[in-house]
Amino acid sequence: MKKILIIGAGVIGLSISYELSKIKRFKITVLEKARNIGSKNTSKNSQVIHSGVYYKKDTLKNHLCIKGKNLIYKFCKKYKIRNIKTGKLFLACTKKEEEYLNVLKRNAIKNGVNDVKIIHQKRLNQMEPMLKGNKALLSPSAGIFDVKAFIKKLFQISKQNKVKFYFEVKNLKIQKINSKFRTDFLKDEIFDFVINCAGMDAIDVAKQNFPNYKFPKNKFVKGIYFKTKENLKLKNIVYRAMLPGDVKERIDITPLLEGGYILGPSVEKLNLNIKKKLKYKFINGIKNHLKSINEKKILYFKEGIRPKIMINKPKSNEDFYIKKVKNYNWVNLFGIESPGLTSALSIAKYVKKMI
Ligand SMILES: Cc1cc2nc3c(=O)[nH]c(=O)nc-3n(C[C@H](O)[C@H](O)[C@H](O)COP(=O)(O)OP(=O)(O)OC[C@H]3O[C@@H](n4cnc5c(N)ncnc54)[C@H](O)[C@@H]3O)c2cc1C
Repeated sequence: MKKILIIGAGVIGLSISYELSKIKRFKITVLEKARNIGSKNTSKNSQVIHSGVYYKKDTLKNHLCIKGKNLIYKFCKKYKIRNIKTGKLFLACTKKEEEYLNVLKRNAIKNGVNDVKIIHQKRLNQMEPMLKGNKALLSPSAGIFDVKAFIKKLFQISKQNKVKFYFEVKNLKIQKINSKFRTDFLKDEIFDFVINCAGMDAIDVAKQNFPNYKFPKNKFVKGIYFKTKENLKLKNIVYRAMLPGDVKERIDITPLLEGGYILGPSVEKLNLNIKKKLKYKFINGIKNHLKSINEKKILYFKEGIRPKIMINKPKSNEDFYIKKVKNYNWVNLFGIESPGLTSALSIAKYVKKMI
């Protein structure tokens, strides 16, 4: 029997516990600092199943997003979790953005997303009459899903498969005993393997336990959402055209399963407080590509923190970091920003191979 400790019950910890719990010779324990599952970044995102159009080729983000997308749709079908394959439009409103569409299309096909197509103005107007753009790239395999129901199912199946969960585990301390691990929380258990998926705290957890190792640094960025209940009559998720790997601030429009739309996320400094001004940044962003919107119905919704990481100063690392600590049975998952949700089930399979 191999004893495995998972730190963190966000979508990543839960996906890993679900995947590993299918293996009978593993005994799995999940320790979570908060009172509930998925209360941090897992509940503070757009709920988008990304199609994998704009990640750089041969990155983990690229491979794991595309695999994860297919796994999520299958999982949703099997367990009747609400989802809609809405499709996503990358909208070009300027000549420059029209050029981006060709680059995006080539990148998508190179990445293995073969169903993308360029939509010309007439067809675009028929598809989405509320949009202003000249042209768009359609990625039909993007969608939205019920993240709450998804993580609840992962949790339920893990528990059925005898995974033990403990919540409100504060100030977790881990001791190394030769090549194994013991926690101050469960003193009688010796773990053979630790998986650190503590989200924004993951680097701190790793540093506490391996003070002499060099790990990436945190480079957190805040993302703020507004919301409208107005029926904008958009079926697709709408992004502005961009260059692959160059994920700048955009005000995306994403339909919500329960009706209405979320707007954003923006890109803000970590210490930004919600200011009135911000609403106008959103309104101006939206007005660039939408024919009309009722400004009064736009309200602040929520915010999340992108756990970006930096390996070599000053450049930030744009890929997921999933690595074993040298000479130890300890895997760190750092920088699991978007498309972390989409990739969760394939990240779990990737980690399984490391054990
Ligand atoms: C603004 C924004 C929008 C996004 N939109 C999308 C999207 O549309 N689609 C998509 O695919 N991805 C999206 N993402 C990314 C996605 O939300 C994340 O990749 C995903 O939620 C990461 O999950 P996680 O389990 O790693 O982190 P978290 O959900 O943060 O979970 C980490 C868990 O570890 C726990 N923890 C921390 N420290 C300890 C400790 N010491 N001991 C025990 N437990 C601990 C925390 O309490 C938490 O529950 C978005 C992210 C942001 C910020």
